[in-house]
Amino acid sequence: MSRHFTRAAAIKLGDMGERTLSSPQRLTVLGATGSIGESTLDLVGREPERFEVVALTAQSNVEKLARLAILHKAQVAVVGDERCYAELKSQLSGSGIEAAAGEDALIDAASRPADCTMAAIVGAAGLKPTFAAARQGRRVALANKECLVSAGDVFLGEVRASGAELLPVDSEHSAALQSLAGAERVAVERIVLTASGGPFRCWPIERLKNARPEEALKHPNWAMGAKITIDSATLMNKGLELIEAYHLFPVGVDQLDAVIHPQSVVHCLVHYIDGSVIGQLGPPDMRTPIALALNWPERRATPTARLDLIKIGSLTFEPVDAARFPGPGMAKAALRRGGNAPAILNAANEIAVAAFLSGGLGFIDIARVVERTLEEAEARGLIRVTETLEDVLDADSEGRDLARMVIETPH
Ligand code: NDP
Repeated sequence: MSRHFTRAAAIKLGDMGERTLSSPQRLTVLGATGSIGESTLDLVGREPERFEVVALTAQSNVEKLARLAILHKAQVAVVGDERCYAELKSQLSGSGIEAAAGEDALIDAASRPADCTMAAIVGAAGLKPTFAAARQGRRVALANKECLVSAGDVFLGEVRASGAELLPVDSEHSAALQSLAGAERVAVERIVLTASGGPFRCWPIERLKNARPEEALKHPNWAMGAKITIDSATLMNKGLELIEAYHLFPVGVDQLDAVIHPQSVVHCLVHYIDGSVIGQLGPPDMRTPIALALNWPERRATPTARLDLIKIGSLTFEPVDAARFPGPGMAKAALRRGGNAPAILNAANEIAVAAFLSGGLGFIDIARVVERTLEEAEARGLIRVTETLEDVLDADSEGRDLARMVIETPH
């Protein structure tokens, strides 16, 4: 492993002076209709001469996908849900933009030559298309968490084999990337990811039991998709991010931590052996880390509101209360357990969050379902090594089935 913080060439740190992308940049956006997709295309729309949009994808939001495809002159627009094909084709008629639908079409779109792919499909559904993008051996701007959470070593194996360049989009990992630039591995003591604490940061545990979806969906600082917003309220999002950080940066599980920072201004803190701490500050607007991932190592102007630290006044930090928010601890335990445990944790969490959003599960039961699913998987001997994407998909499917069973079984 490299002396420097370059996870086996996945992230090419230290190339600060070198332009790695051609201009115009051929760009594909997987999950174009989502929150990350929209922020990405907002930046593209501000400098259209710098981008040539190859493929835009969505699951079923045909109207928005067609509008974005026409606006950005995409070559092809793809919906995952095949039932939406006719509608997409009709909305694109006369535009010269190809329409396609289905899982294979998503993978084909991700395989079309592009200099950079923004991987922003939510959930395990993003695995196959993002793997396909990585196999191109070009740049992957990674927002989708599951490629690292569920498929960490397998995904990084693909990235290394193809020579792809992996740039994190998550604000915390983008911050870590910047705070680690030029660092030697042995000089880094700890990486601490910050968490806003979500809307329930100050709620007592008794009140949490009755938390409703509409309350959990009100994030105090960030505007994001529904799944990640609920994960932010349970703090499972921070757990998933700890797993991602473990794969992105060569540190041990015990060198990774999370801290509550309600203002969401400092995104990550890297502690060095000489007592120095280097962090990155930025507004709670994903366009800042997205711009860096698209343009790395170059920085380009973004329209985000500038930080006014005097107006903000104070930056505060608190420990994570593990009794109310067990997510980060469970994620670290799954990472220590290894093999497919993180994939099962992630699958159980996806099922539990969906059940909470549809009114079929209480807020604090989300973490309980994840915990009981992992216990059940252990008891049934289902925790095993993952070597291929198929192993990961099997673990994902087993985790989902077990989680559904756990939800249906009274306890
Ligand atoms: P959204 O829910 O806003 O968007 C998800 C996108 O994925 C949409 O384009 C959606 O299409 C598409 N999609 C949903 N299901 C499928 C499927 N089964 N197959 C193919 N495409 C699908 O999510 P976000 O933009 O918030 O997040 C995207 C990813 O980035 C997530 O993994 C999230 O954890 C991560 N992330 C997000 C951040 C944020 O600030 N939002 C920050 C850091 C990471 P449609 O609109 O048609 O449903």
